[in-house]
Amino acid sequence: MVYIEKRCWVCNKVITWGQSDTACKLQCRDRLYAESYRIERHKEASYIRNRPCRLQLGEWAETLRHYKWRCAFCKGPFESLDHFVPVSKGGATWVGNVVPACLQCQIAKGNLLPQEVEAIPQEIMERIALYLQRRDRSSLKQTQ
Ligand SMILES: [Zn+2]
Ligand SMILES: [Zn+2]
Repeated sequence: MVYIEKRCWVCNKVITWGQSDTACKLQCRDRLYAESYRIERHKEASYIRNRPCRLQLGEWAETLRHYKWRCAFCKGPFESLDHFVPVSKGGATWVGNVVPACLQCQIAKGNLLPQEVEAIPQEIMERIALYLQRRDRSSLKQTQ
């Protein structure tokens, strides 16, 4: 049998705690619960709009780790899930279109397409776009 080291979905530490496959300590487990609840709320919102919501907790946790659980735009506090391409412009809730954001950046973005946003430097928008493209491709690989 090959021993596969389990790593915490929140902080990426090796898990030695209890029987958990996803969290290294109580605090991390609670954060994952909160995110799983957040995704459920987005699923409901998507369902009402008759739009797809394919985001999975593991995928979202990987994006959160990438941005160190901070706002992807300004590195401020992570307060909300932001649709990079706004829902009103056809953006769906899936790994290739979601990043953590603070409320200030989310308000600054508004309902603009990424290339239309002026309140956040385009350099930052482009870096995020590249990251999301990469996630998009790796999520396709997993489902094949
Ligand atoms: Zn942890
Ligand atoms: Zn921000």
